[in-house]
Amino acid sequence: MKVELVKPQGYCGGVVNAIKMAYLARKENPDQEVYVLGALVHNQTVIDELEKSNIHTILEKDINNKIEELPKGTVVIFTAHGHDEKLENRVKVLGLKIYDATCPHVVANANKIKEELKAGHQVIYIGQSGHKETEAVLSISKDISLYDIKLLINYYLITDESPFVINQTTLNFLSLKDIHKDILEHIPGARIADEICVASRKRQEAILNIDNSFDLIIIVGDESSSNTRKLFEIAVSSHPQAKILFVHDLEALRKENIDGYKKAAISSGASTPSYVVDDIYNYLLSK
Ligand code: SF4
Repeated sequence: MKVELVKPQGYCGGVVNAIKMAYLARKENPDQEVYVLGALVHNQTVIDELEKSNIHTILEKDINNKIEELPKGTVVIFTAHGHDEKLENRVKVLGLKIYDATCPHVVANANKIKEELKAGHQVIYIGQSGHKETEAVLSISKDISLYDIKLLINYYLITDESPFVINQTTLNFLSLKDIHKDILEHIPGARIADEICVASRKRQEAILNIDNSFDLIIIVGDESSSNTRKLFEIAVSSHPQAKILFVHDLEALRKENIDGYKKAAISSGASTPSYVVDDIYNYLLSK
């Protein structure tokens, strides 16, 4: 089979930053337990690797109870996607030692939102309800209205004629354009900031640019990764000529029937380790 890697591949800057931060926390605190409060990044392979270095992950649903049991001075790491400010306050009160691995792009967006709120504006946040980045932003203030990508927004809540509009960093850039259009039709004075991060946008554009000679497109990453799911969505909508597969690793790909396909393109999410992609690349070359 002919195989091509769709670039970019490998970790984005935010994931590199988060992983480095976790290992730094481990190194600087050899006598302490180290816990990540939720998934450091949305990829189970990465989380398994951290565990091997005694960097433990507390599941999202267990965080509030578990932190109450940790002895003072225990190291906790905030994940790449941001965190609820109430959680940070609680962690400080408990005397836990914080390492913050929030992606700089996510931090910058939160700062913009705070400035707009301080200036007295309403904020419309386009995101996915339940996603950690979105929930972290909504925790900043009740004056932020969610435009849920699945449920839309109740425009009656927006009384500001020029609200600030911003979004989760890993949305589908094509869907976001439509949402911006919808908002401007309802609120012509809305001020829109398109904040899809470069890592997500470049990967999405690259998927669109795959030519029609490919009959198989493989997206490698974790189901829980928003940016990876968007690559799958875009591949499905823009390449009806090809079979599109979303797999976590080579083991998952081996379960798929790919007999008869001649030319494959491989794309991957911003938190997918390169060695996982390399395994898939080599397997396909041998087919
Ligand atoms: S995908 Fe974008 S927002 Fe998420 S960690 Fe990477 S650079 Fe940051």
